[in-house]
Amino acid sequence: MMSDLRADLHIHTYYSDSSMSPQNVVREAKKARLACISITDHDTVDAMPEAFAEGRKLDIEIIAGVELSSEHGKKDVHVLGYGFELKKSPLALKLNEMQDARMARMKKMVARLNSLGFPEIRFEDVASRTRSNAVGRLHLAQLLVEKKVVTSIEMAFEKYLGEGETAYFAKFKQTPAEAIRLIKSSGGAAVLAHPMLTGRDEIIPELVKAGLDGLEAYYPNCSMEVANFYVRLAAKNRLIITGGSDAHGAGKKNTYIGKGYLPYEYVAELKKRIHA
Ligand code: AMP
Ligand code: ZN
Ligand code: FE
Ligand code: FE
Repeated sequence: MMSDLRADLHIHTYYSDSSMSPQNVVREAKKARLACISITDHDTVDAMPEAFAEGRKLDIEIIAGVELSSEHGKKDVHVLGYGFELKKSPLALKLNEMQDARMARMKKMVARLNSLGFPEIRFEDVASRTRSNAVGRLHLAQLLVEKKVVTSIEMAFEKYLGEGETAYFAKFKQTPAEAIRLIKSSGGAAVLAHPMLTGRDEIIPELVKAGLDGLEAYYPNCSMEVANFYVRLAAKNRLIITGGSDAHGAGKKNTYIGKGYLPYEYVAELKKRIHA
C-alpha cells in the first residue's frame, strides 16, 4: 500500500526567481504537510544551507537540488539535479561560470531594451531582484511591468524576452547531455524537467545514453493523460519519475508549494539513483 507521505521536488527561492526565502519555503512545505522537498533554483545552490537548517528545525527532509539551464538547438531545456555533492564538485564549480554568463547575458538584454527606447531599464535594478548572481528573464520581466513598459509578465515574454524575440539572448552554452553528465559526475541524479512544456521528447533516448535518471511526469496544470504518457515513456526507458510544483512564490500565480505533490515512494526510487 502507498503511504500518505508526500514530496514536492521542484521549488524556487529568492536566490533565483521566486519571491520566497528558503525558510519561508520550508515553512510553507510544513503547512502543506509535505515530508520531503527539494529546492531547485536556476543555476544556483545558494539556498541550500538555509534550507537544510530550517528543514532540521521543522523536521522536513531536504534533498539538495538545482535546475540547470541548457540548450538543444535554440530550445531551452531544463535539467533537474538531485542529491549531488555540494562542495567543490564539478557541478558546484560550473555554477559560478553559469552565473557569470547570466550576468553578462542580462547586460546584453538591458542594452538591447535601452536601444529600443527604454533607457529607464537599468542592469542594477534587474540584478538587485535576486540574492545570488542567477539573474534571469523573470526578474527583467518584473522590472518591465514595474516601469510600465508592458502591462503583464506574459506580455514582456511575448514582445521582448521569449525565445527568439528582440531582447532575447541565450545563456551559458551547454547541451542537455552536458548538464546531465555534470550532475552525474557530482554524484547526483538527473531528471528532465517538465518535458510537457519543453516539447523535445525526441531527444530523450540520447539523454538516457548520457545518464538521464528520470522524467518529471507530475507537473501542475497538466492533465492525467499527459502525466500518464510520461509515466509510460519513463517505464519504457527504465527511468524513474518525479514531480513538483515549480512554485515561484509571487513570481508565478498558477502554482504553489505542494500543488501536484509526489507520493514519497517515488522519492525512495530517486534516492537509489543518488551516489553522493
Ligand atoms: P531564464 O532562465 O533567465 O532564461 O528564464 C527562464 C525563466 O523565466 C523560467 O524558468 C520561468 O521562470 C520564466 N518564464 C519563461 N517564460 C515565461 C513566460 N512566458 N511567462 C512567465 N514566466 C516565464
Ligand atoms: Zn524560474
Ligand atoms: Fe524550468
Ligand atoms: Fe523551475
